[in-house]
Amino acid sequence: MTDTIFGKIVRKEIPADIVYEDDLCLAFRDIAPQAPTHILVIPKKSLSSLADAQESDRDLLGHLLLTANQIAQQEGLSQGYRTVVNTGAEAGQTVFHLHVHVLGGRPMEWPPG
Ligand code: 5GP
Repeated sequence: MTDTIFGKIVRKEIPADIVYEDDLCLAFRDIAPQAPTHILVIPKKSLSSLADAQESDRDLLGHLLLTANQIAQQEGLSQGYRTVVNTGAEAGQTVFHLHVHVLGGRPMEWPPG
């Protein structure tokens, strides 16, 4: 896949407000937060979107969601939080490196726009 701004963040070539890191993933605050807490959880591995995930990514995908929950607890989102994975341009994906949005700290509406 082609490199993205998130690849540069993984390689620490550009700064980000990192809140969690392990061998498989990185989590950092969104530069344009849509809620009081807005964090992106991304795999370190290059993966364009959920649509490109393979069977071999099963454990990685589970790890991203468990990490999203761990971060939500860490951030004190005890009243609830929303996870979002935009997949493809029509869904609003703008950065083509898979990421899980973790949003919280305000009431959320449904359906999303
Ligand atoms: P998408 O629209 O692809 O689901 O989400 C991409 C997210 O990445 C957006 O919420 C956007 O604000 C965030 N973003 C884009 N560029 C940067 C950046 O350079 N740093 C950080 N921390 N977030 C970014």
